[in-house]
Parts: sequence; structure tokens; C-alpha cells
Amino acid sequence: MNPRRVSKPVQIGNVTVGGGALIVVQSMTKTDTRDIMSTTTQIRELEDCGCELVRVAVLDAEAAQAIQAIKRGVSIPIIADIHFDYRLALMALGAGVDGLRLNPGNIGEPEKVLTVARAAKERNVPIRIGVNAGSLPKPANPQLTIAQQMVEAALQQVRLLESLDFDLIKVSLKAFDVPTTIEAYQDIAQKIPYPLHIGITESGLPRTGIIRSTVGISTLLYLGIGDTIRVSLTAHPREEVIAAYEILKSLDLRQHGPILVSCPSCGRAEVDIVKLAGEVEEELSKVNKPIKVAVMGCVVNGPGEAKDADIGIACGKGRAVLFEKGKKIRTIEEKDFVVALMAEVERF
Ligand code: SF4
Repeated sequence: MNPRRVSKPVQIGNVTVGGGALIVVQSMTKTDTRDIMSTTTQIRELEDCGCELVRVAVLDAEAAQAIQAIKRGVSIPIIADIHFDYRLALMALGAGVDGLRLNPGNIGEPEKVLTVARAAKERNVPIRIGVNAGSLPKPANPQLTIAQQMVEAALQQVRLLESLDFDLIKVSLKAFDVPTTIEAYQDIAQKIPYPLHIGITESGLPRTGIIRSTVGISTLLYLGIGDTIRVSLTAHPREEVIAAYEILKSLDLRQHGPILVSCPSCGRAEVDIVKLAGEVEEELSKVNKPIKVAVMGCVVNGPGEAKDADIGIACGKGRAVLFEKGKKIRTIEEKDFVVALMAEVERF
């Protein structure tokens, strides 16, 4: 795995992005931001599963102003997502927003972006230049590939903000196409010092969207690129946060709650491993500590294959062996499998 690219840290509320800080997990609410109650509730749900930054869509003045009340009910920093109308960014800043996301493809004249940057600078609020392949400004050179056009669009805005000595910048270059996204990030990573927010846009429903996002995000993280991630899914945003942590845990970049190791099951299994692993996963979702738990279908291979697990269960016919770090603790009856395993998880 490549060492992480060194980026200039930016502070979004109480969260540091870049500069060697842990990779930050973010998501976006799917409620109408004007509905303060629903938006606050959804952000609290996201906080409960570990979300660290949240973006809200700001469609009009009422949504921009709602940020003030929403902020009172939540504890993670809020980023306002602005398209088309730069005045909404000014209103969001007035409402105390912690970060802005602007789409350079639709904000319009440079002077509008500069007006927002001046106001953001006064308040020390970072701006993410969020380029989307689907809404690129007209390229100066039509020969450029989509990835190159994305980089060009971002660099133009970076230069514009830098002309005001504004450096509280974060950049994202998202496309649905994974190779395009990777190419664009690899290119811009060498050209600017700012932190990068990475993700695959509009990646779809969880079953396919998690795979598409994971392929793109993990490849970049493995290359050392990325300071904050969002897994965009057509689902409750909680699913985005869970998937983001699984990606980071798989690459040993973050610890967050338990890791479940379960065997795929095969002809040797004498219990329903799919059902058992599902029940254990459900119980583990209530546990906060970082612990590796194994659910294995047989005693022949089970303890050996999961010997680096902290706590594990290797099942046989009607009975199972509980083990800790590969060493047997005791034998348990099938009716006690989940309860006994969870008791050991609790104790560990
Ligand atoms: S642990 Fe046992 S049951 Fe599970 S896949 Fe391996 S051999 Fe099959």
C-alpha cells in the first residue's frame, strides 16, 4: 500500500480533514433540509453510527436558514451543498454552516465564486470544489478526456480561490465510471496540496453500489489518495456510513466496532452458518469495541482458519467449540451459540 499523500489540513468545525488526520467518514442527508425535525433526526442517526461530517442539500433560502436550527440539535459539522445560486452559499454562511460544497459546473461567473470565497474566508469556513463528471463546465479544449476535463474544471476554481489567498480548500472529482474517477484523482493529487474528498457518484442501490464504490474508493486509498470518503448509495445514509467504515477497516485505515469473520460454509458444516452468522452480525451491530469475531462451520478447519480472531465459534453437530485467539475456551450447546458467543465478546 502506498504511503498516504501529504495534504494541507483543513478544519471543518471540530473535524480535521487531511494533513495526516484519520480518513474522515461523511454522508449526506436525504431529507428536505427545510424540514428541520426530520433532518435533525437523520443527522442524529448518522452520528450514532459514526458519521463525522454531514452534507445537506440547500435548494432555497428557507433551507439555508434552516441550518441554524439544525446545528443546534446535532453535534457533527454540517456542510451546505450548493448548486446554481451562489447567494444560497452566502445565506448558509450566515446561518453558521461549517463547510460549503460548490459545483463549479453550475455556479456561473468567477465573481460569484469570489464573493462566496470572501465571505467564507472571513468566517474561516472551507469550501469543497465538488466536480461531477455529469455537470462539467464547457471545456476550453474539447480534445481532453472526461478525467482531464474534471481536473481542468477543479484547477480553474482552485486558482480562482487562491487568487484571494483562500486556501481552506478541499476537492472532489466524482464520476460514475470508476476508471475515469481514479484517473482524475491520480492526476489532481500531484497538482494541488489540498485534501481530497473521494467517492463514486450515483453508484446505485446497495448490492451493486457498495461494490462499485468500494472498487473506486479502495483503489484510491491503496494508492495513498483520499482524506475523506463518502459512499453514495440509493439507500438510507446509515448504509453509506456502515459501508465507508467497512472499506476503511478492510484496509486497516480505521478501527470502528467489531469485525465479523465468517466462513462461507460448505458440505462439512452441520449447522446453518448463514443463519448463525446473520444473527451474530445483528448482535455485533450493537457492540462498539474493536474486536474480531469468527463464526466457523466446522471444527476441522474452523479454529485454525480464524486463529487471529479474538473470539470465535467453530460448530459441529448440535455443539460448538468457543475459542479465544485460536485456543479452546469451552464447548457449548446449539441453543446457546449466540448467547454464549456474545457473552465472551462482552467479556473480552
Ligand atoms: S470452516 Fe469448515 S464448514 Fe466452513 S467453509 Fe471451512 S471447511 Fe467448510
